[in-house]
Formats: sequence, structure tokens, C-alpha cells
Amino acid sequence: MTTIYQAKAYSAASKTSPLVSASIPRRDTTARDVQIEILFCGICHSDLHQARDEWNSVMPTVYPCVPGHEIVGRVTKVGPEVTKFKAGDLVGVGCLVDSDHTCPACKAGVEVFCANVTLTYNSPDRHQTAPVTYGGYSESVVVDQDFVLRIPANLDLAGAAPLLCAGITTYSPLRRAKAGPGKKVGIVGLGGLGHMGVKLAKAMGAHVVVFTTSENKRQDALRLGADEVVFSRNKEEMEKCAGSFEFILDCVAADHDVDAYLNLLTLNGNLTLVGAPEKPLSVGAFALIFGNKTLSGSAIGGIAETQEMLDFCGKHNITSDVEVIPIQQINEAYERILKSDVKYRFSIDMASLKD
Ligand code: NAP
Ligand code: ZN
Repeated sequence: MTTIYQAKAYSAASKTSPLVSASIPRRDTTARDVQIEILFCGICHSDLHQARDEWNSVMPTVYPCVPGHEIVGRVTKVGPEVTKFKAGDLVGVGCLVDSDHTCPACKAGVEVFCANVTLTYNSPDRHQTAPVTYGGYSESVVVDQDFVLRIPANLDLAGAAPLLCAGITTYSPLRRAKAGPGKKVGIVGLGGLGHMGVKLAKAMGAHVVVFTTSENKRQDALRLGADEVVFSRNKEEMEKCAGSFEFILDCVAADHDVDAYLNLLTLNGNLTLVGAPEKPLSVGAFALIFGNKTLSGSAIGGIAETQEMLDFCGKHNITSDVEVIPIQQINEAYERILKSDVKYRFSIDMASLKD
């Protein structure tokens, strides 16, 4: 029988409740488990969407909800069958903590599409420690070894945490689009995902153009590696880009005009959505028809690809630009995310849970 222990965490009791200090059950390590002391956890806009049940139509939130899927920590204990990790290793956990390991999606390395995938939080808990899994706003987590990643030793840990979601979610579609020398890539929305998209696309060798609604982010976008910056509320600036992009990655968390970006694509160009706004987006059929354009989506990335991304970041010394906060500031941080008032990701110093 699986035994449990109690861990400190922050959780939301309902979609209108603030996150507050709580105690949650975690399972003791079973044979293939790795127990991790969480050092930093990034705050993804998905945490906010789910804490507030904004994705109710697709994945209703079960309360209490403990968000957090950008986890970096140190291994404290491993189960007897664990071969990949040992106590003391620096590791990461992203959006997934388990799957059935056997289905075609798992075999193809896209575990996120496994019918039996276990997401890091708000997902049925196959160990039945609790009704659903609890995420990284906590002092520890216990994860199957196949879903634990290695963090390159040269990376700053607070800045590495956001790689586990914002990093892989932008890396995967950029690789698929073959971002590299001679390719022009558009990144829409300079937030947590967007700023990682800029850094990664630049390191891949692409020509990077940022589209932002925040005039005051222009200098930052250039500093982060953009070759050009377009203020998307300016019609003239947008019009100058018409028909010139093979690939645009849309990282916007709220409702916005998708047709305006389809208009910027070349013949056969592609606009990929990673942003997941609460309400459906509207798309004009002719915005796609004229030019044989495609609109597609992309979900995080596989586990092997996540390790590839981390190693790529290690090689190029890429981390997220973070503002480190104590967990006690979590509710204020959520409000600031909604105002695009963070450069460019909050990373929670989990040592603050001890205060
Ligand atoms: P974020 O840090 O809040 O960034 C979102 C950016 O969108 C903002 O910085 C802002 O950029 C832009 N924006 C916000 N409101 C806007 C509006 N009304 N109109 C136009 N632009 C607006 O969020 P994030 O953590 O990067 O996440 C972005 C989205 O991706 C969220 O919906 C999240 O749930 C989703 N997501 C998806 C996946 C996946 O697997 N597909 C994974 C992780 C996250 P500017 O100020 O530059 O305009
Ligand atoms: Zn995320």
C-alpha cells in the first residue's frame, strides 16, 4: 500500500478564492519514484487560467487546486528501481508527471497526447493520494523517473524553472517550423512564453520579429534578441509586414485579432497558436483561404524533446528573465501577470514556504 506524508503548499479553494497556505498529501516514493525538494517554481499563465477555472469547458478545475508546472529542485530520495537519478541531483519537472508509457503517443515521444497522461496538477491521481494531482507551489513533489529532467549545471536555477513549460512550449513548434538561419520568425506577445520564444529562435539562428501591444517593451525585445519589433496596435507598422512571414508563433493569453496575423503570412504560411485564451478566437475563412494558409496549435512538447531543449539552453546559456518572489506574494503576482507587468516570468523561491 502506498503511504503518504504531508507537504506544505499554496492552494486555491475555489475559482474566486486567493491562494493560501495549505497542507497536502504526497505519496512516499514507490519503486520508480523520485522525491524532489522544490527550490523554484515558475508561474505560468496556465496556472492562473486553471486556478480561476477559465478552462472549464476543456478541463474543469477540481478544488483545492495547487498549480505549478515549472519545477526545479533537488532529489531527496529515490525508489529501489530508479536508475536515472540519485539523491542530490538537480532536476526539473514540467507539465506532465506520468502516462501509460506504452501507447502510440508515448512511443512517439508525445506523452502529452497519451489518453492516460497525468498532468502535474488538476489531473486524476493514479496513485490516489488525492482526487487530483497537486503541482509545484509546494515544498516537495514525487514523480515517476521517466518524467524527471536533468538541469544543466551551468544554468541559474530560478531562471531555469520556466524552461520546463514556457521553454519547451516555444522550443517544440520552433523546431517543427525549422527555425534557423535564413528563416524569419514572428513571435506574438512578449510574455513568459513569448520572451522564451525570442531567445530560443535567436539561438537557433532565425531572424526574429516581435509583435507586442506594449510599446514600453520595445527596448527589452531588442535586448532579448529580436531583430525587429512591431507595435501591433499600429496599423501602418502591421501593414508593412503583410505577406512576409512563413511562420508566426502566437503566445497571447487573451482574446485578440488572429486575422491580423494571418494577413502577415506568405503563401502557405503557418500561424501556430500556443496561447490558450479563455474564450474561442474568431477566424475569418478568407484570411486562411487566400494564400493557402494554415492555422495550427501546439501543446508543450515531449519528455525527450524537453531534455533536448534543456541541453540546448545549457549549451547556449539560456534561461528565463525572472523576478524572484516569495510564495506569500503569489496573489499579487497573478494580478500583475494580468497587467503584463512582469519581466518576464515570476519564479517562486520555495524556501519562502518555510517562513
Ligand atoms: P503571459 O506571461 O501573461 O504573456 C501573455 C502575453 O500576451 C502578454 O505579455 C502580452 O504581450 C500579450 N497579451 C496579453 N493580453 C493581451 C491582449 N488583450 N491582446 C493582445 N496581447 C495580449 O502568459 P504566458 O505564461 O506566456 O502564457 C501565454 C498563453 O499560453 C496562456 O494562455 C497560457 O495558458 C498558454 N500556454 C499554452 C501552452 C501550450 O502547451 N500550448 C503552454 C503554456 C502556456 P505584449 O505585452 O507583448 O502584447
Ligand atoms: Zn505552463
